[in-house]
Amino acid sequence: MNLEQGKKQFNGILEKIRAYRHSSSLMYWDASTGAPKKAVNNRAKIQGILAGEVFKLIVSDEMKECLEILEKERDRLDDITNAMVVKMRKEYNKFTKIPSEEFRQYAELLGKSHTVWEEAKNKSDFSIFEPVLEKIIGTLRKFVEYRGYTGHPYNTFLDDYEPGMTTERLDEFFAALKERIVPLLKRIQNSDKIIKTDFLDESYPTKIQEEFSHYILDKICFDKDAGMLKESEHPFTINFTRNDVRITTHYYENKLTSAIYSTIHEGGHALYEQNIGEDIAETILGRGTSMGIHESQSRMFENIFGRNMNFWKHFYPKLVEKFPEQLSNISLNEFYEAINKPENSLIRIESDELTYSLHIMVRYEIEKMLIEGKVAVKDLPELWNRKIEEYLGITPPNDKMGVLQDVHWSDGLFGYFPSYALGNAYASQFENTMSKTLDIDELLKAGQFNEILVWLRENIHKHGCLKKPNEILKDVTGEELNPTYFIEYLENKFEKLYNL
Ligand SMILES: [Zn+2]
Repeated sequence: MNLEQGKKQFNGILEKIRAYRHSSSLMYWDASTGAPKKAVNNRAKIQGILAGEVFKLIVSDEMKECLEILEKERDRLDDITNAMVVKMRKEYNKFTKIPSEEFRQYAELLGKSHTVWEEAKNKSDFSIFEPVLEKIIGTLRKFVEYRGYTGHPYNTFLDDYEPGMTTERLDEFFAALKERIVPLLKRIQNSDKIIKTDFLDESYPTKIQEEFSHYILDKICFDKDAGMLKESEHPFTINFTRNDVRITTHYYENKLTSAIYSTIHEGGHALYEQNIGEDIAETILGRGTSMGIHESQSRMFENIFGRNMNFWKHFYPKLVEKFPEQLSNISLNEFYEAINKPENSLIRIESDELTYSLHIMVRYEIEKMLIEGKVAVKDLPELWNRKIEEYLGITPPNDKMGVLQDVHWSDGLFGYFPSYALGNAYASQFENTMSKTLDIDELLKAGQFNEILVWLRENIHKHGCLKKPNEILKDVTGEELNPTYFIEYLENKFEKLYNL
């Protein structure tokens, strides 16, 4: 096979992979937004078959042959093909270095572990989940030896979600957060300022909430001809190409801000996907480059813009117009304070922008210890509670609200959590650079997002997977990951809010 034939065959395999993944994702969307309950078994079977076909294509002899031919001629490849080869080589190695029988057993283990975790969580009893988690971690520690690693073994897991990220860099990152956010939180906890939030829990008809969600999406330049908003139990974004990006939210009658913030958050993810460059749109590179960069886009919209006073100078009058009975006696300032009040929750997904990263830090430290074999699985509940107490000043009363709260470990997702915290830090770092050329406050005040979107598209979105996370960060901001911007953003905001 010559280079041209290799390229043709390679693209053919990738098109098939995209087709199977597209079909499977569409089923997931359908299942989450309205498919009948009884459809579940047949759908699971079909999705299993599709996933099996994708797996076969990735580890196939044809794939191996294509990769070898293209890698030999690397200098003659265009940037796009080159990046696709690198991406597929990584996937190929990931799946072929592990003996297939062990991989099969692991898949079987994960197939059952979710239900065990669910039972343990419902009964708030870690001992039910303990033997399964022990097996998962044992397997992952073995797999990482097969897969190989540079530096720390946890780096291989990090690299699955945040290419190029290392424990060395993350240790520094979290140390910096710990040093300044933990004391900031203590100062807030000791403050006697009272922020009223009860008005946010009054009755807000969901139909009107829905109208407001659509209004916000239109304003932030979400392209409705290339996407849609529906409702699901848990909000998410799913993307097929830049021309088909779908998001969901969830309306709660007695929680006004829940749908607003999940709409803005998922909207931020969607804008990223809708603004991927046309040249890579219909390739495996036509999506966000990493979990962390993706979260930086959603959190920039949700927190930096969406919890900003200037943003609400524009949007609050509109919100009051929608809910005059509930909000006409609430001033803009009261509303602003309420949406920014730190909740200090024991539960990660209910936590706020100040404490969120501390929740992630606990998970990062524990995952690293588990992969190093420095902590026994049976000791996790105690270790978890000790760390939560140290960083957040509160103690989980039981396993359900502590070590058992997240689904990730039962799905074998190790190395995934840090991307959430990185998203916050990337967002602040990007915003700092953006503010050198754009008057962000003025734009927010005017409800004008077009210039902001153009900036994000040119600097971040359009590159898709053509650039690695760290490359984007360095090209855009001129430096490596620097948590100072995020820390200063939080300090400025909360010191003002609490008159500290
Ligand atoms: Zn997100």
